[in-house]
Amino acid sequence: MPECIFCEEDGPDLSSDCEICPDCGVPPFSGMMFNPEQKEEAARLEKEDDFGGAFSILSEEWKSHTDVDYFDEKMAETIESWIENLFERHPEMSAQRVEFCLDKMTLLHFYGAHNEAIDFAEKAIRIAKDVNRFDLELEVIDAHLSIQRRRYGPAEHIPDYVLLKERRQEIEDLIQQNGEL
Ligand SMILES: [Zn+2]
Repeated sequence: MPECIFCEEDGPDLSSDCEICPDCGVPPFSGMMFNPEQKEEAARLEKEDDFGGAFSILSEEWKSHTDVDYFDEKMAETIESWIENLFERHPEMSAQRVEFCLDKMTLLHFYGAHNEAIDFAEKAIRIAKDVNRFDLELEVIDAHLSIQRRRYGPAEHIPDYVLLKERRQEIEDLIQQNGEL
């Protein structure tokens, strides 16, 4: 019997053509909120070399499928694989790769997967460093520290706080030396 992906075994048995779950009031099956035209639009933009535009569309879809009120894990994973494929085809998309890592980081922290979340912060820092994008690296450190501050309270309780602060200062000095980026 098909079941609602949100209510799972606590929910009612549904018919396979059910459009709204009577228990939670949203479309009950994976992918029902996804509009395939969005994927076509992303592909069209990519063909026109608007890789950032293609990413924006897929990223918005990913966010709406990982929303607190509508978490469609299976569809989110599918969209994520499209985003990763886009990045593989265009490895120069460092800014977007960092942005997506930060989105993953925030989501994972929200669901308590803190270690995995921190892996994404580290991945984002590696991506930024590889292309000498100090501005991006700074953004990652700040986003990471802001979440860690909420988790740990006083700065001295945050793991690696001193190291991160030192790196932050180092980057600010480098940015100043190099002038505007
Ligand atoms: Zn339901």
